[in-house]
Amino acid sequence: MEDIATNLDGLTRKLYGRPIAQVTDAEMYHVLLQFTKELTKEKKEIKGDRKVYYISAEFLIGKLLSNNLLNLGVYDEIEDILKKNGKSLAAIEDEEPEPSLGNGGLGRLAACFMDSIATLGLPGAGIGLNYHFGLFKQVFRDRLQMAEKNDWIGRDSWLNKTDVSFEVEFGGGKKVRSVLYDIDVVGYENGVDKLHLFDLENLDESLVKTGIDFDKEDIEKNLTLFLYPDDSDEAGNLLRIYQQYFMVSNGAQLIIKELKDAGRDLYDMDKYVAIQINDTHPTMVIPELIRILTWDEGFTMDDAISVVSKTCAYTNHTILAEALEKWPLEYLNKVVPQLVPIIKELSARIAKSNKDPGVQIIDAEKRVHMAHIDIHYGYSVNGVAAIHTDILKNTELNAFYKLYPEKFNNKTNGITFRRWLLACDRPLAKLLDDTIGRDYRKDADRLEDLLKYKDDEAVLTRLADIKKQKKQELIEYVKKNEGVTLDADSIFDVQVKRLHEYKRQQMNALYIIHKYLEIKAGRKPKRPITCIFGAKAAPAYVIAKDIIHLLLVLQEIVNNDPDVSPYLKVLMVTNYNVSYAEKLIPACDVSEQISLASKEASGTSNMKFMLNGAVTLGTDDGANVEIHELVGDDNIFIFGVDSDTVIKHYEKADYISKDYYEKSPVIKEAVDFIVGPETMKVGHKENLERLYNELLNKDWFMTLLDLEDYITKKDEIFEAYEDQARWRRMMLVNIAKAGYFSSDRTIADYNKDIWHLK
Ligand SMILES: *Cc1c(COP(=O)(O)O)cnc(C)c1O
Repeated sequence: MEDIATNLDGLTRKLYGRPIAQVTDAEMYHVLLQFTKELTKEKKEIKGDRKVYYISAEFLIGKLLSNNLLNLGVYDEIEDILKKNGKSLAAIEDEEPEPSLGNGGLGRLAACFMDSIATLGLPGAGIGLNYHFGLFKQVFRDRLQMAEKNDWIGRDSWLNKTDVSFEVEFGGGKKVRSVLYDIDVVGYENGVDKLHLFDLENLDESLVKTGIDFDKEDIEKNLTLFLYPDDSDEAGNLLRIYQQYFMVSNGAQLIIKELKDAGRDLYDMDKYVAIQINDTHPTMVIPELIRILTWDEGFTMDDAISVVSKTCAYTNHTILAEALEKWPLEYLNKVVPQLVPIIKELSARIAKSNKDPGVQIIDAEKRVHMAHIDIHYGYSVNGVAAIHTDILKNTELNAFYKLYPEKFNNKTNGITFRRWLLACDRPLAKLLDDTIGRDYRKDADRLEDLLKYKDDEAVLTRLADIKKQKKQELIEYVKKNEGVTLDADSIFDVQVKRLHEYKRQQMNALYIIHKYLEIKAGRKPKRPITCIFGAKAAPAYVIAKDIIHLLLVLQEIVNNDPDVSPYLKVLMVTNYNVSYAEKLIPACDVSEQISLASKEASGTSNMKFMLNGAVTLGTDDGANVEIHELVGDDNIFIFGVDSDTVIKHYEKADYISKDYYEKSPVIKEAVDFIVGPETMKVGHKENLERLYNELLNKDWFMTLLDLEDYITKKDEIFEAYEDQARWRRMMLVNIAKAGYFSSDRTIADYNKDIWHLK
C-alpha cells in the first residue's frame, strides 16, 4: 500500500509536475494507464507446451482500467489513495475511451474468454484486428440513428506496439504490410496472456470523410479503419473478405513463426496448438495454413490438410441462414486467388465421397460455404447453449452431424464475473463477501451458498437497497447524458442488445403502445414502469433502423404526455456499449430476453442481468432455457411458443401475421398506432409505414404470434414486483444460481473437451 501510494505519486509528479490532488481526472487517467502497464510488466507471462489461439473478428473488450486494477489485485488500494486525494476512480474511468472492437454478444464473448483463459492460467492468445474507428458511434438526429466514427486510440492507449510485422498478398498484385499491437490480458490473480491485434502499416485515417464514409476500394490504406463496414454492396463485401484474409494470414504467419521459434516440428503442429475459429469470419485460416505449409514448408497436400484439420476447431454462433457466410467464388478469386485452388481441392475431396448438395463447400451457384469448410476440416464443432447445439444437431446441421457425430459438442456461453459483478456492482460484491466469503470469486459455484440467506430479512433488505442505489447512479448518469429524468421508485425494465427483428424489440414497443393506451383509458399500473432500451442497428439494416425510430418516437410521445408519464417512461439510450451495459445491468429489475424461440443462439446479457439480481422475462430460447432449469418455474417468467413449434411454422411456412392482427383487437390497436396521428406528428411517415407494413405482411420473426402472451406475462411480472418479499427472494435465487454462467466454467469446458492445454 505504502509502495503503491509512493509510486503513484512519483509517477504523477514525473508526468505532470504536480501531486495527485492537483491533476485533472483526464491526467490522472493517463497516469493510471502508465502505472497499470508497469504493474502488468511485473506479472509472469503464461507459458506452456500447448497453446490456444482464439481467432475472432471481434473483441469487445470494453474499458480496461478498472478490470485490470481488479485483476492485478490493487483496485481497493488505488481507489483509497485517490479518495484521500479528493478523486474518484469512477470519475477517472469516465475519461477512458471505450475501444469498440465488436458488435455485440460474439465479440463480448471473445473478451470474456480471454479474461478467463488468463485467469485459469492457460497459455492462450487472441488474434484479431485493430480497427481504428471500431464499430460506429451511434447518435440520434431527428429521431433517426446516425453513425459517426469512434476515435478510441488517442495519444496513449492499452495498445503496445511490437516489432512483429508480416507481408500479406492479395489478388491483382496488391501487397500490404502489417504491424502487430498487443494488449495485455491480465488474469485475475494470475499471469498475463496477449490479445494480438494486427493493423495495417500504411493505414490512412484521413480517408474517412463525413460520418463513416470512406473509399472502400482503397484497400491498401483502409483495411483496419472500421469493423464490418456496410456490406450492402459489392465493394463492402469485398472489403470484408480483404479484412478477413488480412486477419487470418497474419494469424497463420504468427502461429507458424511461434512454432518455429520454439523449435517445434510443423508436422506436429496439432500437438502444440489449438486454433479456435470464432464464427465463420476467420475460416480462411484453414486454407491459408494449408497454403503456407504446402508452398513454403514442403508439405504434401495430404499432410497439410491432415495436420490443419487436427488443429482447427469451430464455434457456431447462429442458425440464421442469412448470417452464415457464403462468399461467391468470383469474389474470392479477386481478393485471394492463391486460396482458390486450395478451396477447390478441399471442396472436391468432399464432393468425391458425398453427393448430398447440402454438405458441399462450393455449391451449384459457385458460392463458398465458409461454415462447411470449418465443419469438414476442423476437429470440433460447438454450439453456444444446450438448445442451440441441439438445433444444430437435429435440424440446421443435421447432415453434418450424421457424418461427424463425434465432432459436435455444446459449450454454453459464460461471462466474466470480474467485469460483470466485481467491477460493475461493487456493493453487491461486498454483500457477497460479507455473507458467503470470497471463494465465489475464483469458484463461481460457491454463489449457491447465498441460498442459505433466502429468508434472511437483513440480507434481502440489503439486496433491495443495493438495487435502489444502482438505480440512483444510473438515473444521474442518464440525466447527464440523455437529459431524461427517471424515477427510482419505478420498475426498471431493460432490453439492451443489438437491434434485430429476431430479438423482437418491436414486440416490446408494441407492449409500450398497449400500456400507453391502457393508461389513457384510465387503467393505470400499480407502480410506474420505466422501459429502457439500448441498441445499435447495422447501418444497412433498414427495418432495424425503423424500429429505433419507433422507440424514439414513443419516448417523445409517452414522456411528454402528462396523463401517462407519471406511470410510464421510455428511454432509448444513445450509443449502447459495454460501459453503458455496466451501468444499466446492475440497475435493472426486469431483464427482457424475448427473442423468437430457436433464434437466439445463447445470449449473454441474460446471464449478466441474472447475476446482478434482475428477474428474466423471456422465451424458452438460448441460454434462457438453462436459466429456467437452474432457477425453476418460480423465479423466471417464461412465455411464448416453444422452439419446436416455431421450427414447424417455418417448415410449413404457415405463419400469417395478418391473421393475428385481424383476430385480436388488442394487437390491431397496438399495430395501428404505429401509423396513427400521434406518431405521425413526431415521426417520419416513411419509416413508420414501412415498419407497419413489415409487421402486417411479413413479420418474419413472428412478433404477433407471441404478443398477447407477452402482454399477459409482462403484466404478471410487474404484479409480482408488488410482493416485495417474493421479489427479493427471486433476486437472491437468480444471483445464487448464476455461477454456472461464469466464463471460467465455459473455458474449463473448452479446455477439457477441445483444447487440452497444458
Ligand atoms: C453482453 C453484451 C451484448 C450481448 O447481449 P445479448 O443480449 O446477449 O445479445 C451485446 N452488447 C454489449 C455491449 C454487451 O455487453
